[in-house]
Amino acid sequence: MSDFIHESHSIVPPDPKLDKYQRIGLVLLGIGLATFFSSLFAGYKESGNNTIAFSTTMILVFSGGIIYGLRTHLKRQPGIANNGIMTTSVTSAGAFGWLIGITMTTLYVLYYWWHEKLAGMTSLFDPLSNAIRGKDADQWFMYGALYTIGVIIMGIKALAKYRHSRYQMIRTSSIIGSQLFLAFLTPYIMERLNQPYFAPNYFWPLDYKSMMPDKVSHLQEAGNVGNFIIGWVVVMFLVVTPLLTYYFGKRWYCSWVCGCGGLANTAGDSWRQLSNKNLVAWKYERVTIYSILVFAVVMTVIVWLSASQGLFPSFGPKVQEVYGFLIGSVAAGVIGTGFYPILGTRIWCRFGCPMAAVLGIIQKFKSRFRITTNGGQCISCGNCSTYCEMGIDVKWYAQRGQDIVRASCVGCGMCSAVCPRGVLQLENGPTEQRAEYQVDLLSSMKARKMEGKVK
Ligand code: SF4
Ligand code: SF4
Repeated sequence: MSDFIHESHSIVPPDPKLDKYQRIGLVLLGIGLATFFSSLFAGYKESGNNTIAFSTTMILVFSGGIIYGLRTHLKRQPGIANNGIMTTSVTSAGAFGWLIGITMTTLYVLYYWWHEKLAGMTSLFDPLSNAIRGKDADQWFMYGALYTIGVIIMGIKALAKYRHSRYQMIRTSSIIGSQLFLAFLTPYIMERLNQPYFAPNYFWPLDYKSMMPDKVSHLQEAGNVGNFIIGWVVVMFLVVTPLLTYYFGKRWYCSWVCGCGGLANTAGDSWRQLSNKNLVAWKYERVTIYSILVFAVVMTVIVWLSASQGLFPSFGPKVQEVYGFLIGSVAAGVIGTGFYPILGTRIWCRFGCPMAAVLGIIQKFKSRFRITTNGGQCISCGNCSTYCEMGIDVKWYAQRGQDIVRASCVGCGMCSAVCPRGVLQLENGPTEQRAEYQVDLLSSMKARKMEGKVK
């Protein structure tokens, strides 16, 4: 074991060879993944072998993933190693990156629209589903379990990778705990207790269904617990969200609680550098995210008018269906997650999430959060901009010693963690002392674009 970690503080040369621990980890992980994908064709349910298959697969995947992840990062210096990150096929949207992206996208498409094709894979999770909620798995349970397993394994890797940063250690522990206890276990324990579905970390507008008339009347019928859930959703959106965003910025939700951010910062961490930093992307981002927020609000109003007043009787359900398909499935799932290795993480958080839009408006206009920059120390290495998953040109602000006040910043703190000069600090302070430079940056980028210096 001491051999496992004794090189923690040595500098590893570029493209180091895999050592025996990494090879063992990869072999275990490889067999585990092969067992997992073979479940598509195995028919474990019929043979009654799904307990053995599930246990074996989980032991292999967990042990292999954790051994490989821990060994790889504990023998390196903590933090992101720039070595080869822009040339390695997996991390630079090369052939392997595309292969992983296509595999993930295909699984999402099957999961949403042809889930009967995943029946074998779903039944692999029967033992876990029976243990937690007392019945066989369905595709939603399988998806939640896979999502949570991904966050846990890759979260442990992230804890090892960013062990030099207290902020990252606490934040990563928070997103693992939030996904496991709030998003995964709570709803199924509620189901086992014959209570309505309740995931405390999701509420309107991200979980648009939580405020739909049919859901609300179903909750009312459930009595006190149902009324508590309605109250929870309303208070979280109208009181807790503005208050916490005022004090801490949108990071309290996007980087500490939300499962979408949780997956991006664990399973998606290796692709954060692929986020597009172009001015054009910034323009699209502002159009799409606020359009989807407007769509969510209009859709909710129409559905309520349809249900309560009888207006738009067929249009109401139709518009909800269209929203569910385009935003809930295609944007948030297929593109938002399946495209991590091609377009970078946080595609959904940056271009689509209506909750991020609301939080961003509060953060921009009424929040104590800002990233302060000590411009005199900046050596213009560009690490901060490279690893900003929201495509913010952090270096631009750092070079000028200006506070970063951007609606899109999720406060992940990675720009600060990768800065070799300690230039960037995530801080909360009086709102009136924040300097807002978005307009300056935009005009500067426009000018540079006209000069042909940026795309
Ligand atoms: S990482 Fe630090 S030193 Fe490098 S450009 Fe950004 S602020 Fe400057
Ligand atoms: S500016 Fe820094 S804290 Fe904000 S999203 Fe980018 S990397 Fe994260």
